[in-house]
Amino acid sequence: MPYKDVAQALKALRELEETNSAYQHAMEVLYLDAVTAAPKDTGEGRGKTMAILSEVSYGHLTNPENKQLYDYLEEHCGELDEKARREVQLGKRIYEQYSRIPADEYVSYQVLINDAQSAWEKAKNTDDFELFRPYLEKIVETNRRFAHYYNPTKSPYDALLNEYERGTDTKQLDEFFSELRRCIVPLIQKISDCEPVDDSFLYRPCPIEQQRRLSDYIMEVMGIDRSHCSIAETEHPFTTNFNNKDVRITTHYYENNFASSLYSVIHEGGHALYELNADDKYNYSFVAGGVSMGIHESQSRFYENIIGRSQEFIFAIYPKLRELFPQQLEDVTPDMLFRAVNKVTPSLIRLDADELTYCMHIMVRYELEKQLIDGSLAVKDLPAAWNKLYKEYLGLDVPSDSKGCLQDSHWSGGGIGYFPSYALGGAYGAQMLDCMEKDVPGLWDKVAGGDLSAVTGWLKEHIHKYASLYEPKELFERSCGAFQPKYYIDYLTKKYTKLYNLE
Ligand code: ZN
Repeated sequence: MPYKDVAQALKALRELEETNSAYQHAMEVLYLDAVTAAPKDTGEGRGKTMAILSEVSYGHLTNPENKQLYDYLEEHCGELDEKARREVQLGKRIYEQYSRIPADEYVSYQVLINDAQSAWEKAKNTDDFELFRPYLEKIVETNRRFAHYYNPTKSPYDALLNEYERGTDTKQLDEFFSELRRCIVPLIQKISDCEPVDDSFLYRPCPIEQQRRLSDYIMEVMGIDRSHCSIAETEHPFTTNFNNKDVRITTHYYENNFASSLYSVIHEGGHALYELNADDKYNYSFVAGGVSMGIHESQSRFYENIIGRSQEFIFAIYPKLRELFPQQLEDVTPDMLFRAVNKVTPSLIRLDADELTYCMHIMVRYELEKQLIDGSLAVKDLPAAWNKLYKEYLGLDVPSDSKGCLQDSHWSGGGIGYFPSYALGGAYGAQMLDCMEKDVPGLWDKVAGGDLSAVTGWLKEHIHKYASLYEPKELFERSCGAFQPKYYIDYLTKKYTKLYNLE
């Protein structure tokens, strides 16, 4: 017997977890530095450090002794509490999955995505897909191979989807998306026949310094503790978390579009709250952090759309917006602002899309990812395929790859199979709202008063505090019952029918 008793084995497990957290922490700080503060020609040394750190971390997680540890603890699972059982389950899952990937392939993949990041940025900035193409080809090829390592019994794309949202597959998503399309396409059609909403004032120049103050205000309204969460500026907004006491969000300011950063901050703030509100006891363990991308996106999109684009919230933040942008909003009423931020227009850029057409952007990416991974679409044909689907789904001509297939950072970061989480997150959120409204009397009156504590309180109690203790499906079902797309469809239909007086 390699271990004297369960206590000794648990001690070994915790050491393993804390060392792993330290490696992850170091690598994430390097990544954050790369995209925020680092001067542009500093990638070489960082790439080298990343390669070494990921090799060490990989070796640590796949050490054959870990298997003995997990097996021993599994044999004694009757003596473990719920958290320890989950730590063993997650640790073993990582061990098995990583052990299937040969070390050299894992390390060269880390180097590849580091290089791909800068290639993508250059390609996007110069509108030159060819600069990014060879990297994306390798990323697709590697993901296809890794998918087989992850789960040889699933189709490669299903195996990748499972990495981001355990339990989901193309069968479920094909149904979900086709139901969504059935509802959304006629709604978009009806709206396009309506008098267009004037949102021109959203594009009046607003000094970036004032926009930074708006970010501070929004984070305060959301109840984000700035001593545990900072904000930086990057090309593409994102959130990274080191532990529940240290979370970083980023945004991107556009002088002629203050709403872009406003909603990025609310979105990333939603991700941050999920991490910050996790129970302390999960820190530095495999149970730390949000459980899946779908649940994570449900939180960010809940704040961004369900709260952030509600009439109550807009009316609550309007006085501050008037104070920060007095000339720009001089002739704008709260109701005009509410309508403008909910304007439905098929557009080219996913990040700036309205809540309704947003799902169509996801469907484009979902269809293309499926084809890239099953080999029916070659990377060189991606721009043309992208442009064709934008025409078909959104009725738009894509003028350049920068505004087309180069717009998102996900693929350059290796995230194939991630996009559907956004749409799933939206749908989870709508069902959560239904439960929250039943549980919290006067919910919307509180939001109208600029008080989000009841919203965050409910989410903390039902979602945030559990970190990764439960599988996404179980976590969701414990608070909301079985997932049903109808809540999302009803939510969208009700909201936009009212906004555009469609009845
Ligand atoms: Zn997000």
